[in-house]
Amino acid sequence: MLAVAVHEARIGLAEGGIPIGAALFDADGRLLGSGHNRRVQHGDPSAHGETDAFRNAGRQRSYRDTIMVTTLAPCWYCSGLVRQFNIGTVIVGETRNFAGGLDWLRSVGVNVVDIDDPECVKLLAEYIRDNPAVWNEDIGEG
Ligand SMILES: [Zn+2]
Repeated sequence: MLAVAVHEARIGLAEGGIPIGAALFDADGRLLGSGHNRRVQHGDPSAHGETDAFRNAGRQRSYRDTIMVTTLAPCWYCSGLVRQFNIGTVIVGETRNFAGGLDWLRSVGVNVVDIDDPECVKLLAEYIRDNPAVWNEDIGEG
């Protein structure tokens, strides 16, 4: 499942965007939708990897048994999306570049799995090194 999110991150990078990808799966591991951060490509600060995957998955009757997989720990905004729709499980590729709202998600009962994948760490670390201003804008830092 993480490979789908990483593939999306690489598409985003190839488009000139921030390499963060995500995918939403059902309980059986069937892909419902995937997406990637499009802040730069669309000039849309709300187009995060998780929101893009969520939108591409379309309407679901319930999110309790769905699994959100993302290359990076979800920010507060995307953590809010997970909480709002009661997405039951979040699998993150890494938390080294950004810890996001994982502790909060755990505290409200979301099943959180941190894979700590070296490829995810490297992909984003290199982008942040080369594009610090875009990255700080993305996470709402001055
Ligand atoms: Zn986000």
